[in-house]
Amino acid sequence: MENLIVIGSGPAGQTAAIYAGQANLKPLMFEGLMAGGIAAGGQLTTTTDIHNFPGFPDGVSGLELMFKMREQTLKSGVKILTETVEKVELDVNPFRVVSSSGTYETKTLIIANGAIAQRLGAKGEDQYWQKGVSACAVCDGGLPIFRNQHLVVIGGGDTAIEEALYLTKFARKVTMLVRRNVFRASKTMQAKAFHNAQIEIMWHTELAGILGDGKKITHLKIRNNQTNKLETIDVAGLFYALGHKPNTEMFKGQLEMDETGYLVTKPNSTMTNIPGVFAAGDVQDHVYRQAIVAAGSGCMAALEAERYLQI
Ligand code: FAD
Ligand code: NAP
Repeated sequence: MENLIVIGSGPAGQTAAIYAGQANLKPLMFEGLMAGGIAAGGQLTTTTDIHNFPGFPDGVSGLELMFKMREQTLKSGVKILTETVEKVELDVNPFRVVSSSGTYETKTLIIANGAIAQRLGAKGEDQYWQKGVSACAVCDGGLPIFRNQHLVVIGGGDTAIEEALYLTKFARKVTMLVRRNVFRASKTMQAKAFHNAQIEIMWHTELAGILGDGKKITHLKIRNNQTNKLETIDVAGLFYALGHKPNTEMFKGQLEMDETGYLVTKPNSTMTNIPGVFAAGDVQDHVYRQAIVAAGSGCMAALEAERYLQI
């Protein structure tokens, strides 16, 4: 039987595993095999350079950062299985974790499955992903290619407005494309968008294609879904704010979740509603969604699991 199983291999899972390994808990980590369509290492493996993770004054590539975290995890005495967890049984003690190689029993479990930023699958999206197209304004908005440029945000939720407001610090103008004629966002956030002279809102507008010069995006094709009129606009950046989907399907009916599927943890802790089961990172965080926050909560989960095991 294991002391601790960690599911997930993003910054939350790696940090939890490093702390637990160094505390001699001999944890077992399932790093996933293209789980949720993302490589082991998590969301940062889908981006280029990261400039806001402390310790890297010149930035670091997402892949390199995650590779180094994995190396540190292994050096901390953690056993890593490159498998995706298919099922968990949390109504038994010890808990059961099922993957392609069998069923594993564990006294404690840290869930760090992360989340997936929704994409549109628009024409040109794959070609220009991270060449002007991003799913995270806070991560990428400050890059030189976006300074004093016309940028576009798609979405009508709180995140979309938050990102549009953030981008106004760098951009010449920010246009929001909203598919209906209303925002989904809270009234407070809506007011902020309406009162910002740098923000233009285009209602009933959808993306029809992403165009560029091969190296970066230069234009967007957009369509009014009431009139079907197509238009081409000059832009230097496109930011998706279409919501995120946490990887929590397998915990439905077993763990407490909010209405959008994020795991619910007790305030100031990573404890779920089941003692001995902890959740860290984006799987339980729809507010910050940053690597350093995920890593911090991974640390909390490991310390809490260690304390639980000593009870
Ligand atoms: P994730 O990174 O989502 O990792 C979860 C891992 O668990 C994945 O590898 C997944 O495959 C695996 N997994 C899922 N289900 C299973 C299963 N059943 N079994 C086994 N494994 C499983 N943040 C910053 O701080 N700075 C940035 O510059 C930045 N840039 C970003 C750019 C992009 C394009 C994106 C999408 C995000 C960016 N972020 C950035 C956000 C950051 O990536 C996330 O906040 C962080 O990765 C969350 O870490 P996590 O460990 O919670 O989960
Ligand atoms: P969200 O509320 O789910 O909003 C997603 C937005 O994307 C919606 O406007 C939706 O349009 C749009 N969208 C989805 N698919 C689309 C598509 N294919 N084409 C065009 N548009 C599409 O997600 P979120 O904004 O990330 O917010 C998630 C949660 O976090 C919410 O509870 C939110 O309140 C909270 N949050 C709060 C704050 C804050 O208070 N400061 C900040 C960020 C997030 P429709 O409206 O037409 O469906």
